[in-house]
Order: sequence, then C-alpha cells, then structure tokens
Amino acid sequence: MSSATVKFQPEYSQPILQEIMEKSGQNLLSCYQCRRCAAGCPVSDEAGVTPDRLIRMIVFGQKDEALNNLLVWRCVACYTCGERCPNNIQTAKITETLKQMSKKAHLEALSPKIASFHEAFIKSAIDNGRLSEMDLMMTYGKKNAQHELKKGGGWKAVIAELKGQAKLGLALYKKKRVHLGSEKVKNLSEIKKLSKKAEELK
Ligand code: SF4
Ligand code: SF4
Repeated sequence: MSSATVKFQPEYSQPILQEIMEKSGQNLLSCYQCRRCAAGCPVSDEAGVTPDRLIRMIVFGQKDEALNNLLVWRCVACYTCGERCPNNIQTAKITETLKQMSKKAHLEALSPKIASFHEAFIKSAIDNGRLSEMDLMMTYGKKNAQHELKKGGGWKAVIAELKGQAKLGLALYKKKRVHLGSEKVKNLSEIKKLSKKAEELK
C-alpha cells in the first residue's frame, strides 16, 4: 500500500464514512488505531491490508481504496479482529458492507472466484433456507464458467474449470462432505421475506 501522507478532510470523508457506519452498524470513529485487530487477522498478510488500515481509509474518505482492496474479498469473517478490539469494532461487517457496495456499483471483484462463491452461497441459502452443497457447487461452477467466458478464456478454460469442480465434488462426496439433493426448510417463505427486507435495507 502507498505510504503517501493523506490529509484528513472531514467534509470529503464524511459521506462515505457515514454510509459505511450506517450500513455496517459499526462506529468507525471509535477506532484509535491500537492495531490489536491487525495482530490477529489470518488473511491480512495475503490481502496486504489490515483491518485498522481499512478503517483508516474509510475515515479519511478514500472510497476507491476502501472498495478495491483484497481484505474486502479475502476476509473470512472469523471475527477475531472484533474479539480483540477494545471498541468492539467488527471489521467483518465492514468488509461485508464494502462487498455489497462494490457489487451495487458494478465494480469488477478483485477476487472473482471469491465473489462467485459468495453469490452462490447466498443464493443457495435463500433458495433453500439452508445451504445445499450441490446447489452451491453448481451455481459456483456456472458463475466461474461465465466469468472465464467474459474475460475471453474460451471454452477450454470453461471445461477445465468445470472438470476441476467435478473432481473436487467427487472427492468431497466420497468423504461424505457433500450430499446429493437438497432439503428446504419448512418456513421458506419467512426466509424469502427476510431476504427481501435485507435487500431493501441495502
Ligand atoms: S483493535 Fe479496534 S480500535 Fe484497535 S485498531 Fe483495530 S479496530 Fe481500531
Ligand atoms: S473477520 Fe476478517 S478482517 Fe477480521 S480478523 Fe477475521 S479475516 Fe481478518
């Protein structure tokens, strides 16, 4: 990340800061940069951004940087940072908010496969009221294939992707880690209503 000095300009940072605080329900202004969160984040090395840095970007109104960094996509929502934070700031809720904002703005995801997995997971949970592994794998494979085609990878890349997914699915099935078919919860309409409400609040 750039180490250039960034000037704090409240009038510039306020709209994005306000939006993220409202949507994530986190008080970013209570962060005093103690970096306890950074020490425990399992993905920050790989992402190149720690939770405290992400918060700082938002407080300083660096919208593009906040939306386009790997922590947003690689955060595994382990909540370690929130457990360690003396101010109870849950960065997982901030990264989730930024993912939604990035999708809404039609930005290209920095990790397309993670974005596909995320979408497939949510779709399966809403369609069934619970996760269906087969459903998840099929939607995930389809989305990855579409992405390969979009970026010009051609059918060879699509077939390689689908073969890879099928091989993984078979290995997981043999170890009884995935189940064929899907089971829906009884009150699926309640889940759909909740999902609709959540969409309206975005
Ligand atoms: S632990 Fe909390 S207060 Fe400390 S830097 Fe991280 S988010 Fe900020
Ligand atoms: S919730 Fe996300 S940001 Fe926080 S420690 Fe886990 S991976 Fe890192």
